[in-house]
Amino acid sequence: MMIKTAIKTKAFAANGPGQELKPFEIQRREPGPYDVHIDIKFCGICHSDVHQVRNEWGQSSFPMVPGHEIAGIVAATGEKVTRFKPGDRVGVGCMVDSCNECDSCKDGLEQYCERRAVLTYNDIELDGKTPTYGGYSERITVHERFVVRIPDNVPLDKAAPLLCAGITTYSPLIHWKAGPGKSIAVVGLGGLGHMAVKLANALGARVTAISRSLSKKSDAEAMGAKEYLATSDPSAIEQAQGRFDLIINTVSSPADMNTYLGMLKRDGVMVLVGAPGEELPVHPFSLIPKRKTLAGSTIGGMRETQEMLNFCAEHEIGAEIEVIPIGKVNEAYDRLLKSDVRYRFVIDIASLK
Ligand code: NAP
Ligand code: ZN
Repeated sequence: MMIKTAIKTKAFAANGPGQELKPFEIQRREPGPYDVHIDIKFCGICHSDVHQVRNEWGQSSFPMVPGHEIAGIVAATGEKVTRFKPGDRVGVGCMVDSCNECDSCKDGLEQYCERRAVLTYNDIELDGKTPTYGGYSERITVHERFVVRIPDNVPLDKAAPLLCAGITTYSPLIHWKAGPGKSIAVVGLGGLGHMAVKLANALGARVTAISRSLSKKSDAEAMGAKEYLATSDPSAIEQAQGRFDLIINTVSSPADMNTYLGMLKRDGVMVLVGAPGEELPVHPFSLIPKRKTLAGSTIGGMRETQEMLNFCAEHEIGAEIEVIPIGKVNEAYDRLLKSDVRYRFVIDIASLK
């Protein structure tokens, strides 16, 4: 992709693994014919931002401007853009491009693009050379295929986390048919986990929230969990054996997968969405005797992301957030690592301007 004219853009970046984020200037491209230029209003802080800034997945490049939970307002559009106009409320999630030709792209599953989905940051555009920079920045230019509409009744700050935490949990819930009659557990009550509780409940499933302590019990119940288990209590783990059709596992650091697999019914499925970046040992007998499945899932396609946003609007679902100025981002990372957030930090991008 050729950058014709560049637009100077203020951002926050990390300059090396584990370094603090600091002010940084990037260039955004002028909108090409199919591009949407977005004035970013809010950007959520996903645990993936922390993993990548700390190079825990081993593929980080610097300087890195993180952020893939972007909510903003369309500022300008290319001449061939038909779906958006200036003033529209829009979102951008974890991807900004894909090949648009392979079977996955044709099926609306761009996140599984057989060439590759271009990630919103810490990646290179399909031209093979232009680095991508994320939403801890004033504005972004994105092909209209990777822009979604944020419905009017979802405030932009509460909508931002839906672009990653929302779709990453909605997609496996839909794929594995969460709904009435299904018993679903959500492990880890962070950004992804709290969205999974809300979404699974709105889909009509019976939801059990599984956290390490009792401290989030009343919150989880308010979000729709019918039951709550604290894994600090061995008797709670014992009682949960063989109980769930589906477990959405959002745990962000290594934990014993065999414990959670024991909680599945016959033919139950545990989906890993949490991505600690380390091997997670699984005993064969955690799966074999009751024909259990251990699966993985990543974000969701663009069609499904729009469907999720519409579903959230219909059910009046937004993320539970703590809005912070960009100057507090490093402190927020430290707090996120301690699970000290109820339940998603969202950066007010006005503080960057
Ligand atoms: P988060 O807000 O930090 O939540 C993670 C939760 O996991 C914590 O709140 C905590 O819940 C639980 N947890 C952490 N360490 C644990 C441990 N050792 N044992 C048991 N529970 C533990 O993070 P997030 O933003 O929701 O992201 C969660 C994970 O999903 C990250 O690894 C992230 O990279 C990944 N992710 C994947 C995708 C995808 O496409 N698959 C997309 C986005 C994020 P409690 O305090 O309730 O115990
Ligand atoms: Zn994310």
